[in-house]
Amino acid sequence: MNVIPREQHKISRDHISSGALKVISRLREADFQAYLVGGAVRDLLLQGHPKDFDVATDATPEAVNDLFRNSRIIGRRFRIVHVRFGREVIEVTTFRGHHDSDTSERGRNAHSQQSASGLLLRDNVFGTLEEDAVRRDLTVNALYYDPETEEVFDHVNGLQDLQDRAIRVIGDPEQRYTEDPVRMLRVLRFAAKLNFSLEPTTAEAIQKCAHLLLEIPSARLFDEFLKLFLNGSAAATLEQLLEYDLLRYLFPETAAELEHDELALPLIRAAMRNTDTRIAQGKPVTPAFQLAALLWPVARAQADQLEEQGESPLAAMHSAAQLTIAEAARHISIPRRFSQPMREIWEFQLRLQNRRGRKAAELVDQRRFRAAYDFLLLREEAGEYTDDLGQWWTEFQELPMEQRLQQAGSRGSGRRRPRKRGAKPVA
Ligand code: ATP
Ligand code: MG
Repeated sequence: MNVIPREQHKISRDHISSGALKVISRLREADFQAYLVGGAVRDLLLQGHPKDFDVATDATPEAVNDLFRNSRIIGRRFRIVHVRFGREVIEVTTFRGHHDSDTSERGRNAHSQQSASGLLLRDNVFGTLEEDAVRRDLTVNALYYDPETEEVFDHVNGLQDLQDRAIRVIGDPEQRYTEDPVRMLRVLRFAAKLNFSLEPTTAEAIQKCAHLLLEIPSARLFDEFLKLFLNGSAAATLEQLLEYDLLRYLFPETAAELEHDELALPLIRAAMRNTDTRIAQGKPVTPAFQLAALLWPVARAQADQLEEQGESPLAAMHSAAQLTIAEAARHISIPRRFSQPMREIWEFQLRLQNRRGRKAAELVDQRRFRAAYDFLLLREEAGEYTDDLGQWWTEFQELPMEQRLQQAGSRGSGRRRPRKRGAKPVA
């Protein structure tokens, strides 16, 4: 075990949340071990500002729970304790121990469970700090910090990898991906976020193990999707997923569409850049917008097909939206609070084609207008032909209602102009 004294690293206690420090000192007062661990130590060493703080301890979840009134035990597959301080949540995990080839009674009991294929179904066997370090995913995520002595403990040569800007899975990558295939997504996420390179064996094993992602429950894939695309590096993450061909385990229909729709990738890239920019500016973001972009090529193709079969554009888009979301949800669960706005953004694209009448004038005030309009601009940015619709709405929405009504050629009759026959829909 490498111990790095305070003079040899740049972690400043001032950048550590008071909640995390409190948790650590309270655990230590109760004679437990406790360290800051994971992403927070990594980010502190990189001079970044950690977004959350994880604590590792030898106290069991129950013991932690007993010590903090403001805490609760969560998770089944991997039980941890959340300790809340106002808006901040400190994640406290008990040191994990060995269990894979462990034939002792302890290793075979209900605390640990593996599927026939080696997938770790449950990991609640506890151990020492050294054991805990090698159970973690990446060397750069397995550094421990002692806020009292200000020493860093490095059991896996993580500091060297941090200096080399390398993402390296601890142990044998193939075995570690087999235990938990989501680690492959984590590898790509951290490579993108930190702008690090994959160490060769870490990279090579991905191709071999990628198919194991099919075993991951759709709810966990969605959780991981949020971490992949809402961390401010969505554009870089997308490129990693494409390079290692993992997008098809999250969105198989999209991946298939990318093969023959050359507008698909530019649109998805534009949406990811857009989200990253908004996050950098501190603006709110919703995964519904990204999902709308990721699945638009699929929905669009479906709608085209239905139109060819004689459905009206609106009916076709309506059914296509439903089909697309249902299909996608077989792999990655999409909660209704996101699928509903996605559908509205898509259907709105057709309504935005109509520049005339009271309907057009009123559209601007509708709840989903802003997101739908932003989405239209993305489609244009991606090279889709829309007959300058975006520019038109950019100007039109700035007008007061009175003038909008005038410009749209409506005297408030609400009468619809008949659709020109043979006019090609732009969406
Ligand atoms: P972030 O900045 O995204 O919070 P993080 O490194 O803290 O990054 P978390 O998902 O919060 O990532 O996990 C905390 C720590 O738990 C990680 O640093 C890693 O050591 C360990 N960990 C998380 N998921 C896994 C996993 N699937 N397998 C092994 N270790 C894991
Ligand atoms: Mg974390």
